[in-house]
Formats: sequence, C-alpha cells, structure tokens
Amino acid sequence: MRVLVVEDERRLAAALQRGLETEGFAVDVAHDGLTGLNLAGRTPYDVIVLDIMLPGLNGYRVCSLLRAAGNDAGILMLTAKDGEWDEAEALDTGADDFLSKPFSYVVLVARLRALARRVGSRAPRVLVLGDLVVDSAARTCTRGGTPVRLTTREFAVLEHLALRAGEVVSKRELLSHIWDVGQDADPNVVEVHVSAVRRKIDTPFARAAVQTVRGAGYRLAADGG
Ligand code: CA
Repeated sequence: MRVLVVEDERRLAAALQRGLETEGFAVDVAHDGLTGLNLAGRTPYDVIVLDIMLPGLNGYRVCSLLRAAGNDAGILMLTAKDGEWDEAEALDTGADDFLSKPFSYVVLVARLRALARRVGSRAPRVLVLGDLVVDSAARTCTRGGTPVRLTTREFAVLEHLALRAGEVVSKRELLSHIWDVGQDADPNVVEVHVSAVRRKIDTPFARAAVQTVRGAGYRLAADGG
C-alpha cells in the first residue's frame, strides 16, 4: 500500500514515515501543500494523510484540488483541534476521514488500513487463490493450511499480486506501489523479492503460482497451478 504524508511538522512527518514503513507501507513525504499536490498528481497513492495547516497551500485546498482533478485516493485529514468546524470542512472538501491532533499512532494505522480497504482497490481482507490464502488484515499467509512466514516487503509484493490475481503486474507497478519514490528504484529489488516469495509459497509446496511473464512482469495464477 502506498501512502503520501503531507505534513509540515518535520519530526512528525519523519516519525510517521518510519512507523508506516514498519507496517509495510511505501511512504512518501511532502512538507508543504504544493509539493503534496504535485506528488499526488503523478503517483497513484492508495491513501493520503493530509495536514490542514500547511505552508503555501492548505490541506483543504490540496484536497479540493485533488478531487477536482479526479484523484480518488483515500484522504485522511489531520485536524489541529477537535472542533466540529474543521471536521465538517474536511469532509466538505472531499476528505474521507479525519483525525484530530494529537492522535494515537495505533489509531492512525487502523484508520489508514480501513480507509485503504474502503477506497481504491476496495480490496477484500482475505484473498483466497486455490489453497493459497492471503489475509490482508492479519498480514498472514497460508498454503494448504500451512503458515508461510514472509517479511513485510515480501507480504506487500504477494498481496499486490494477489489483488490482481490472473493479471500481469509489471515490475514498475510493484516498484511504485511498494517502494518509496526516494528509494533506489532498481527493478532488481522487485526480482529479488518476487524470487523470495516464490521460494516460500511455491517451492516447498511444489507449486508454481508465481509466474514470470517475460518482458512484462509477474502473474499470480489463481489456480495455484
Ligand atoms: Ca501543520
């Protein structure tokens, strides 16, 4: 899941980035409204955490401009106080949810996951592909009932392939959804992770669900072939 954090308090933004990356999200950060707007315009984010009081362009403006441009990412606004005015305004401009500062990190993560489920892919929580079960909520995977341990990145790769089961997913798409803009965008990192996923969910079970489509990307076969 790819997240954009637009927050001018740099320590808070950095803490959110670290924390959300630990949860397995790919996180980009903008410290002002215009940068946030530009990033959101060229990168498909699943959810955007948008502070209201921002230098330049405030959160309300960013939100309404994104919606006017047809951007349908889930938007969670951070309201400075728990005044009804802020919250009503946030929802009016097209935000999906809001959270008052100071907020609990655990609550933020739960809200983001809930929001990501509601919008965009509207992904089911449990993806079942033959005897392969990928549980997005619990972050677990089983094959024929046997638990398979994956790293957060490996899980994110598998989850993305599972959401698009039967379709070819390019390395570029995996890179853009799972790795950050600022990180090394070497497609080899995708290959390494896909290989690791294959070694864990296929090889021990004599399956070949993770297929390489030469020159195009990868496909997770729905039948587990
Ligand atoms: Ca602020």
